[in-house]
Amino acid sequence: MKKIVMKFGGTSVASGENIRHVANLIANYVSQGYRVVAVVSALEGVTDKLIEAAEQAKKGNRDYFREFKQKLLEEHLTAARKAIENKRIQEEMEQILKTTIDELEKVLTGIIYVGELTPKSKDYVLSFGERLSTPIVGGSLRDLELNAQFYTGGEIGIVTDSNFGEASPLMNVTKHQVKEKIEPLLEKKFVPVVTGYIAATQDDVTTTLGRGGSDYTATIIGAALAADEVWIWTDVDGLMTSDPKIVPSAKMLPELSFQEATEMTIFGAKAMHPRALEPAMEENIPVRIRNVFNPENPGTLIVKEQKIKLGDAVKAITLVKDVALVNVSGAGMVGTPGTAAKIFDILGRDNINILMISQSVSEANISFVIQRSLSERAVSTLEIALLGRGLIREVTAEDDVCVVAVVGAGMKGTPGVASRIFTAIARKGINVRMIAQGSSELNISFVVKEIDGEEAVRAIHEEFKLNKI
Ligand code: ASP
Ligand code: MG
Repeated sequence: MKKIVMKFGGTSVASGENIRHVANLIANYVSQGYRVVAVVSALEGVTDKLIEAAEQAKKGNRDYFREFKQKLLEEHLTAARKAIENKRIQEEMEQILKTTIDELEKVLTGIIYVGELTPKSKDYVLSFGERLSTPIVGGSLRDLELNAQFYTGGEIGIVTDSNFGEASPLMNVTKHQVKEKIEPLLEKKFVPVVTGYIAATQDDVTTTLGRGGSDYTATIIGAALAADEVWIWTDVDGLMTSDPKIVPSAKMLPELSFQEATEMTIFGAKAMHPRALEPAMEENIPVRIRNVFNPENPGTLIVKEQKIKLGDAVKAITLVKDVALVNVSGAGMVGTPGTAAKIFDILGRDNINILMISQSVSEANISFVIQRSLSERAVSTLEIALLGRGLIREVTAEDDVCVVAVVGAGMKGTPGVASRIFTAIARKGINVRMIAQGSSELNISFVVKEIDGEEAVRAIHEEFKLNKI
């Protein structure tokens, strides 16, 4: 009997109709003998709305809140009425939704009073998206005569540290607890419906796993249960060789290794939470990306050992937009240990994340790529901290750039891949501003002008004949 953890993202549960569709899908697998654990995200866009509500509460905006509460309740009641037919179950769920929203009201009122939004209270507010969506999915499953029961991540045993906003699971306790809780339910043919994204500390304080964290919840549970597979149901058929909006002939990838998929998620193939593959990778549990609106398609399977061999060294090409290239230069940096550490420490303390780094052996400059919206702040922070000390001469930022990332496990130890990539680019007359390849050799990334980005992606896609796989 196959044990599958299924995660349903925001679009999968965007409306009552969609939730009904999801419930039917689950029921279908259960009737085929599958044991299913469902992990559910907030209804599409709700987490963003909760962030806004929390910010408004901090500013003391009571009017905003009153309207917000009404709309949120309406949205969920409407979904519940469409997703659940049985009147008794419907009423029961409505009651739960109302009580939950009353609880949210108390939290937001508290924030209005103190005028302060701590990371801890913010996580509590953000947890309501999943607290509201999960009962509707659970109700819809019960409507289809399944034994469904819903739980928060904390209730099911997911324990984290107290790094609010981006909490990390304490895997040993978590695995033990989740198994103890869920296994008996599955034995009894129950379908546990678990809130994605939210968990709790050991003292039972609500935490969140970071945006998009429902994927992570699913793989944590999958690892705890030693599930056969974790299925990430989304609104695309799977991971592709490239963005079909850029390369119309892009193909779906039937199989990828964990390492390749990790490279792709980090480089903006926004399909997954960046840490979501970790628990699955550790316990060797295959993860499948599937389309909830096209369940006939088997999707992309992410595994440790690949069985399907694809023709060439390169598997996929992604384009990362909205970035800036920052260049720090000065002869004072040459042969001075600790320069790089200083630069990255300053940025780290200012919460600026670095996507890509390169320094030539002359040591006279260090370049790195960050999110574009942070580029002004990065430049001024570095200037203030470093210019006066004679260590560096200049900090500049270029905002009109993008990163092209070429991914594939077959690139490792294969000579000539880089030369083919850059020859293909050169043929189109595109200039490369910066290059980085980690020694894992799984990913070659480079920076070009933003206007050249799409053309660069197409040129490489063609060079490696990815439309033929
Ligand atoms: N609702 C959360 C978010 O929007 C978690 C998720 O969707 O995975 O980030
Ligand atoms: Mg979401």
